[in-house]
Amino acid sequence: MQVLVDVHMSPQEYTQRFREVEWPVLETCPVCGARARLLGHGWYSRNALPTREVELVVRIHRLFCPVCLRTVSVLPSFLLPFFQHTARFVVKSLLGKVKSYRELLRFHWRRFLKNANRVLAFLRDLDMREHLPEDGKERAMKLLGSIETSGLEMFSMLFQKHYHRGFMAI
Ligand SMILES: [Zn+2]
Repeated sequence: MQVLVDVHMSPQEYTQRFREVEWPVLETCPVCGARARLLGHGWYSRNALPTREVELVVRIHRLFCPVCLRTVSVLPSFLLPFFQHTARFVVKSLLGKVKSYRELLRFHWRRFLKNANRVLAFLRDLDMREHLPEDGKERAMKLLGSIETSGLEMFSMLFQKHYHRGFMAI
């Protein structure tokens, strides 16, 4: 299980100041629902790629539930669960604002289009009233634009909290 939290740092800052991050205290286990304080359980390394050129390896804080004995990974909100690239890179490359790779872009498009209806429903709940084009890709571009203007990381965190899955999940 992965949860997203706002660490108030860029990926670069996060790599340098990992020890200064104030982690949220989870009093309820997101896996089993038990009311028990989750315990620190070390960390692991993972990629966080903010551009095509920059490769960062970041540490991911891990918690442990004393009831169900499962671990919970605490992802900084600039990351998407199971994606090596940052959320910003993914959204900006879909919008054509930064360069990606052909295959990677195709993969990101497939994932986003798969989630587009759910994203739309969620944006409507967040009060997006805009009229949307019929065409799938044009519509998706509008949705991505709304995500970007509404605050990508906040959107991503709220979405994950609401649906228990990321907006780019399978
Ligand atoms: Zn648990």
